[in-house]
Amino acid sequence: MSQVQDRMRTVHRVTLASGLRVVIEPDHRHDLVAVALTAGSGSRDDPPHARGLAHLVEHLMFPREQDGLAGHLHTVEAAGGLCDANTFRDHTSYFSVADADSLEPLLNAEAARLVRFAPDQRALDGELPVIEEEIRGAMFASHGGFPWTAAASALWGPDCHTGGDHGIMTHLRAVTPAEATAFHRAHYTAGNLVLSIVGAVDPVRAEATARAAFGEFTPGDRPPRPPLIARQGVRAVHTAKHFRGTALAIATPLPDAADPAGYIAHAVLAEVLSAARLPRWRECQSRLRSATIRCGFNGEWFNTASPDLLVTTLLRERDWPAREVIAEWSGLLGELSSVGPGKGELQRAIALLLLGHHRQLDSLVTRAVAHGRFAVLFPSLDGPHQIPRLLSATTARQVADAAATVRTAPAAWVELIGGAR
Ligand SMILES: [Zn+2]
Repeated sequence: MSQVQDRMRTVHRVTLASGLRVVIEPDHRHDLVAVALTAGSGSRDDPPHARGLAHLVEHLMFPREQDGLAGHLHTVEAAGGLCDANTFRDHTSYFSVADADSLEPLLNAEAARLVRFAPDQRALDGELPVIEEEIRGAMFASHGGFPWTAAASALWGPDCHTGGDHGIMTHLRAVTPAEATAFHRAHYTAGNLVLSIVGAVDPVRAEATARAAFGEFTPGDRPPRPPLIARQGVRAVHTAKHFRGTALAIATPLPDAADPAGYIAHAVLAEVLSAARLPRWRECQSRLRSATIRCGFNGEWFNTASPDLLVTTLLRERDWPAREVIAEWSGLLGELSSVGPGKGELQRAIALLLLGHHRQLDSLVTRAVAHGRFAVLFPSLDGPHQIPRLLSATTARQVADAAATVRTAPAAWVELIGGAR
């Protein structure tokens, strides 16, 4: 890396007196700034009777115009920017991007919607139809949450994830404005939030702007969350009328946030298997129609830490019994765990993952969001820029060990039986 790039990538971190963490990464390639606000709470923190509350609160964080105050969207658009948000299992990301001169109005708008949060019944009623549409889309597209939602529920118990990140409509219709406000008060505290700024900014001035906007803010951490204990050998069967075929998903938990090198070895393992070994298996097994392996919830790695999943999905002939499929899959892992990947195989997998990582982080918004997510979920890593170093250091032995772990770790088998033949 050249000296110029090196200076560009210097990341400034500061914690304000309230406990709010601020991450600033100057990048002067474009005259833009991206701002992300990340809350360390998500759908895993939904109360059992209110699945989707974290997601509803995310929607309510975009207040519409009221009492002479402009709505959030309008404020950001007036500053020439765009904004959006996403709720995940263990965090929620809010992000906006605008002309670099608009940093101050962007930060003021972020602080204002945190302090102003006080939705009324009209605000809830306005968001429910939007959420209903999102749930319909997500559940239909993924055949009732197959395999991610279904695998998480099978592995960690139905309470952990029933309804997915979006929630359950019957629960959400019963949520009151007071409940939404109480969730916000408990989870949107300074110690559970990270503000990240990436773009054409001077770090000293950006920090002063952040201090001015977020100076007065409620201290406090994330409320405690009970640990999830994976159950061994759980099996769940789903049927889907519009699905053609029979699919089996095998899900195993990934190493947690305290072991990033172990986690990365699983990402490399998934890449090694995808590149040649799964296609080869498919070629010599006529009853296997397709085989894919994804590391990380919904196929995104380092996007959840509570804990995360590695999922292999096998589309097979209906008359091939699941236990035989699992035995063959286990054999494939056994081969890799005893010998490990070849040198060229390992290098290719790492190179592909590095390329994908750099491509993703090229976007200012993705990088601002990643800084927030890493600070919240993977505090032992010094941000997403540590990934290339960890990837390059991954050895064949570590990948072999990852294969051995996947072979023996608690696993959930989720079957999807199609209605049409
Ligand atoms: Zn939504």
